[in-house]
Amino acid sequence: MSNGKRVGQAEGHVELRASIQGLTRHALSAACYDLSVFALVAVPRSAPEPLTYSIPRELEPFTVAGSRVRVPMRERQLTGIVVEVQAASDLDPGVIRPINEVLDPQPLVPAEELQLARFIADYYRCPLGNTLAAMLPVRLLRADSETVSLTPSGVGVDAAGLDATSAAILTALGEGGSTRLPALLAKVGSRDRRALDGLVRLGLVEVRRRRRDRPPPSEVTALRIADRPLEQLLEECRRAPRQRDALQWLSDAGRPALVAELRAVVGCSHATVRALMDRGAVVSFTQRAPRPPRWALRTAPERHALTDEQQASVAAIADAVSTGGYAPFLLEGVTGSGKTEVYLRSLEDVLERGGSGLVLVPEIGLTPAAAGAVERRFGARAAVVHSAQSDGERWREWRRAADGETRVVVGPRSALFTPLRDLRLIVVDEEHDSAYKQQESPRYHARDLALVLGKRLEIPVVLCSATPSVEAAALVRRGLATHLRLTRRVAGGSLPQVEVVDLRGEPPEPGEQGHTWLSRRLREAMTETLAAGDQIILLMQRRGWAPLLLCRDCGTRIQCPSCSVSLVVHRRSADLRCHYCGHRAPVPASCAGCGGTLLDAVGAGTEKVAELLALDYPDVPVAILDRDTVRRRDGLRHSLGAFAAGKVRVLVGTQMVAKGHHFPDVTLTGVISADALLGLPDFRAAERTFQLLTQVAGRSGRGSRPGRVIIQTYFPDHPAVRHATTHDVTSFLDDELLFRNAFGYPPATRMAVVRYESRDMKAASTAATQAARAATPLPPGVRLRGPAPAPIERIRGAWRWQLLVTAPSRDLLREVLERIEAAPPVRAVRMVVDVDPLSTL
Ligand code: ADP
Ligand code: ZN
Repeated sequence: MSNGKRVGQAEGHVELRASIQGLTRHALSAACYDLSVFALVAVPRSAPEPLTYSIPRELEPFTVAGSRVRVPMRERQLTGIVVEVQAASDLDPGVIRPINEVLDPQPLVPAEELQLARFIADYYRCPLGNTLAAMLPVRLLRADSETVSLTPSGVGVDAAGLDATSAAILTALGEGGSTRLPALLAKVGSRDRRALDGLVRLGLVEVRRRRRDRPPPSEVTALRIADRPLEQLLEECRRAPRQRDALQWLSDAGRPALVAELRAVVGCSHATVRALMDRGAVVSFTQRAPRPPRWALRTAPERHALTDEQQASVAAIADAVSTGGYAPFLLEGVTGSGKTEVYLRSLEDVLERGGSGLVLVPEIGLTPAAAGAVERRFGARAAVVHSAQSDGERWREWRRAADGETRVVVGPRSALFTPLRDLRLIVVDEEHDSAYKQQESPRYHARDLALVLGKRLEIPVVLCSATPSVEAAALVRRGLATHLRLTRRVAGGSLPQVEVVDLRGEPPEPGEQGHTWLSRRLREAMTETLAAGDQIILLMQRRGWAPLLLCRDCGTRIQCPSCSVSLVVHRRSADLRCHYCGHRAPVPASCAGCGGTLLDAVGAGTEKVAELLALDYPDVPVAILDRDTVRRRDGLRHSLGAFAAGKVRVLVGTQMVAKGHHFPDVTLTGVISADALLGLPDFRAAERTFQLLTQVAGRSGRGSRPGRVIIQTYFPDHPAVRHATTHDVTSFLDDELLFRNAFGYPPATRMAVVRYESRDMKAASTAATQAARAATPLPPGVRLRGPAPAPIERIRGAWRWQLLVTAPSRDLLREVLERIEAAPPVRAVRMVVDVDPLSTL
């Protein structure tokens, strides 16, 4: 304790010196004021707009747009990015403070990135500092951690005469010694740190700061398996299943792995790694910036003679690359039609011309095929970016790209911000995938940003999909993008035959409240498929056992205490769970409302379907693939691996099973219910359903034997179902565009949802109402829906009210949003602006 105190004082001393230095600089720059220049500095989470600082003479050569700098703000120092250097400022020179430090030898953010950041900040309504922080690969703008404690003179001081917040702070600190700042502010119920700053000035409280904005070290710790027989090692830790898993994985990988990677893929803790090291089963060593080959590089790169259709597409893209200029393409083709091969060739062409290329994929974990193909083709010139990487790895890949060492980057949406040199081509694979939309601020859509970036850099952008988004289709129809089509599967083989089972004509399953999960037709087909030795994929969108628990006596559904949704019954973990906030509760023996004991689990999820299969086909191994099983240690690799190896014959899962997996022995896919998405009150319901049905259908019959698909539904005539049956993407898009145009939904208009969230329902509705008033009178063509409670009215204890704005143009949308944002804030209400929302729930 006393030791800690001494350290704290020493640090305080250093800070004092630093601030004297700052003063001197201030005086200096004020003296030669007419010579100074100014920097606008964006800092995350502290100021919505960039702040003005003066640039001390000695720092002038290093302070340019894109430099990362330390700047003072009140009693603190912040890390931010210079977004502009100006020769003059309108501000009173007396209030302008100087920059303290320039942090990197080279400016961190290249000019194009900075421009893109400005676009994102403006279009997606996110402060520039926050946007930049989100674009950087590691947290290089992270605020200092701050620990607050009483000074000797603050101990036992009389709080009388202080304001309530200050008094509360002193009390809280008196109880607990030193406290982290966020915890302290939460305790005293204030988000404002002014009271704290006041106490610091009075000398009653001190704040110790630790910087957290440093780039990760360039050395990494890697692990390799000890030089002893694997059996022996496994035997030694037979009582520690996680350690065994880790060893097995390392052995399978056949190469050293980074600690972070091992932990991410095996899902083990640091303690597990430590234990393995302690028992000498793995050996750790440090290495400098290795790039472990992530995907099996053993197989030789495949090079095929292109089909005529592929050839035509490659030629069109090559033409655009050589001409230069912005050129969007939509490369449409059923799964297996060779789209990947087309963009690989296009990338080869770009590299030959000295350029570099970027490939975006929805999620590496679920679509490893594309990343693997790129890496096999381009070897060390390619870099794969993914979430299992450690900060150090991510940072190194970023710099490699900036230095021109990496020529092709493949990764999820954030890979768009890799500062590749001479970028000449952007590919967006599976462009329709909703994973491209970031669900937190900045809420950008990577496909749309790829187009924005393409326009700025004047380069081609290729959007690929078997089921193009309505947005991409609209670009083609307006003549704004070139349509390239691959109409046949390369390996030959026709598309699977799709059958619709009308559930209205099915006898209900016993004990299932009139529902049928496995129709007679589906069972028949499954039996045939299994008899033929083939595999089956079943799509069931809900996880768990049953989506709700119902009291038969009073009709009450057991709800989440913090969200306006029913709790889902989970059999495996024997509990009820909220899929929105994660709340868990034991399954009650009786209804809390009426005391009735007849509680029914109504409906079905993946667990129930797997159970029904086990009853019908007791000898057939079945696995579940959904977020529950993936979350479990190594779940994804395990399920997919076992299925690929044929150890599992039926894979039941949520949309995860629809992703680009290639299982040649699957000849039947069944959709348990096409209606789960159709029923959602969201204008994209039909589009999502069509895409999902088509994607999951594409899993069937990818090998030599023809595949079939069975879709069960209560709405066999819905266009999304009908067109999926005939694989008719074009007709579906025609219908859908008609609908969007008629009702003024995107892409016919630009949309934003503005949501007000608060624990106080009245406050949320007041905020929404005031905002709606601020928006009116609406500019011509702009439509405002709401204020109204969101379809899911409450999540995590917060009530949600929202406005839905649609406008004929981007500028009009921005105009209205600016007015809404300028509405007076309501206490304890969080405003969320989501431009081009993927969901309005
Ligand atoms: P998609 O991306 O449209 O699903 P892929 O590009 O992955 O399709 O191609 C599907 C399979 O066909 C892959 O195994 C690929 O190697 C192979 N393939 C692609 N183009 C050709 C070709 N011209 N000749 C032979 N095989 C090809
Ligand atoms: Zn909940």
